[in-house]
Amino acid sequence: MIKSSNLEIIKNASLKNLNTYKVDSHAKYLIKVLNIEGLKEILTYIKQENLDYFILGNGSNIILDEYLDGIIIKLDGLNKLTIKDQTVICEAGVKMPTLASETVNNNLTGLEWAINIPGSVGGSIIGNAGAYNSEIFDNLISIKVIDKNLNIQELKKEDISYSYRHTSLKNKNYIVLEAKFKLNKGNKEESLNLIKDRTARRKATQPIDMPSAGSVFRNPENDHAGRLIEEAGLKGKKIGGAEISKKHANFIVNTGNATSKDIKSLIKLIQAVIKEKYNIDLILEQEIIEWK
Ligand SMILES: Cc1cc2nc3c(=O)[nH]c(=O)nc-3n(C[C@H](O)[C@H](O)[C@H](O)COP(=O)(O)OP(=O)(O)OC[C@H]3O[C@@H](n4cnc5c(N)ncnc54)[C@H](O)[C@@H]3O)c2cc1C
Repeated sequence: MIKSSNLEIIKNASLKNLNTYKVDSHAKYLIKVLNIEGLKEILTYIKQENLDYFILGNGSNIILDEYLDGIIIKLDGLNKLTIKDQTVICEAGVKMPTLASETVNNNLTGLEWAINIPGSVGGSIIGNAGAYNSEIFDNLISIKVIDKNLNIQELKKEDISYSYRHTSLKNKNYIVLEAKFKLNKGNKEESLNLIKDRTARRKATQPIDMPSAGSVFRNPENDHAGRLIEEAGLKGKKIGGAEISKKHANFIVNTGNATSKDIKSLIKLIQAVIKEKYNIDLILEQEIIEWK
């Protein structure tokens, strides 16, 4: 394995505290990248050795297999956030709640919804995260990415194809390094009140006190996945340590010792029941990470 002062390398690393399902997963190597130089070094090494790798954000939209026989990269050192007038430049490792609170503290509006997204900016750009009819692309101007030839490129929003919880960036193997946003001038008190209301609403309707990865399925057109799962009588259904939340049927929660296998089995069961009952194919919003 490569050695560098730009990288922190952990062998046979536990990923349990690096995914919000709190699934017990291990990786052959976990590599914390301290700066862009380090990222280039490890990507060069991976290319030379033809190894498998995965970029881990805050692990809040993924289901990790028990053992990942390769390299997990975390962009821990990329966490700079600068605000000048209405322009915000934010590195990929910054957490969404930090982005929300820093912009609100600077009397800027547009990213209040991000306060309840437990992901990183990089992961949220890749999946076009959003809530309350807003999404991260709304206020986006451009992003900086590193491509598979290790060139750093700036992509304008207009050059990226994106839709509901989806972008073309993932398929192109881009790694997001930084995002630039333009926000509107706002009022801190008003934004804080909005945040307070929405946080209370989430607390009342979602099982945020239990490990999960948010909504399991996309909402089918003109309906809600949670409504269908509840109507099908599946709320509270359990496989191993994974349970369909009794509070919100589109959440699977870890009741203590859920494995990725338990979660995946529950997902299959829900999909089969909903297909059988309503002839609807529920599409997974979360990403299953497994290396065969
Ligand atoms: C309680 C709860 C509530 C949630 N509510 C919402 C919600 O309201 N709206 C919503 O949209 N989501 C929601 N989510 C899901 C999740 O928080 C978002 O999808 C979030 O944007 C994922 O970011 P992440 O950093 O955790 O990504 P991860 O889960 O770590 O990774 C997701 C994908 O992004 C890729 N990735 C991560 N960083 C980078 C990077 N820098 N460059 C390239 N690829 C990268 C990964 O390889 C992976 O493919 C919720 C999750 C939880 C647990």
